[in-house]
Amino acid sequence: MGYNAGIDLGSTAVKVVIVENKEMIWRQARPTVPGQEALAMGMLEEGLKETRKKRSEIEKIAVTGYGKNLVKEAHTVIDELSANAKGAFLLSGGKARTVINIGGQDIKVMRFSPEGKLTDFKMNDKCAAGTGRFFEMAARILDVPVQDFGSLSEEAGEPANINSTCVVFAESEIVSLMAGGAETGQIIKGLHESVARRILSLTGSTSLEDDIYLDGGPANNSGLVSAIEDELFREVFVFPYCQFTVAYGAACSVLI
Ligand code: ADP
Repeated sequence: MGYNAGIDLGSTAVKVVIVENKEMIWRQARPTVPGQEALAMGMLEEGLKETRKKRSEIEKIAVTGYGKNLVKEAHTVIDELSANAKGAFLLSGGKARTVINIGGQDIKVMRFSPEGKLTDFKMNDKCAAGTGRFFEMAARILDVPVQDFGSLSEEAGEPANINSTCVVFAESEIVSLMAGGAETGQIIKGLHESVARRILSLTGSTSLEDDIYLDGGPANNSGLVSAIEDELFREVFVFPYCQFTVAYGAACSVLI
């Protein structure tokens, strides 16, 4: 049995995984830069080295994401929604019916049939509200890495009141709150609350009676996940290695 590679050329991050018989044995993410094909192939070489495998052992390279048509060595090109559906279906043991993918620059809400077929889809792509880019803007102003947002908000007391999820307006709200003496954790908690409301407004009238799974890089932020749970009054599930679900799904799409 050989191995497959999945490459997800996202708007914000390039993700590469190596999969052995549906098991993700290696993964890496790097910021998207011009020349992302070379970056992805270089990452794959690193993966082969670290897992002590030869390039000839990779049977198929499946590519997905925003830049999916850029990789000349791709054996298969698969759209992001199909890759996400495949990854979510396999990683949830067939349980995922609703998946919210929070990406670097967009948010997708997907509903699946029990067989893992996409039945409904909504996307927030016109503004950065609630995306990784939004949190990176906040991180720059607050001077803390996004990776610390979860712990900082969880340790904070009352959340600051933030009304705007528009990058431009939220930026000035954050600056005013800082000037008014609000603590960083409270501001971040307020941001999570307003973003959670925004993300869930995307689900519209679609009823969310089944298990809800989150993926995409910002789903690593436990504070954001808690805010979404509070907004929904229920537990939501985050895939392990949630930034890699789509790359994993691409790699698995050539297995089955
Ligand atoms: P895309 O596929 O659209 O490029 P990703 O799903 O790869 O997006 O997510 C990229 C975003 O994830 C970045 O904006 C980054 O800031 C965010 N991110 C990655 N890891 C973390 C983390 N541990 N905590 C918070 N945000 C994270």
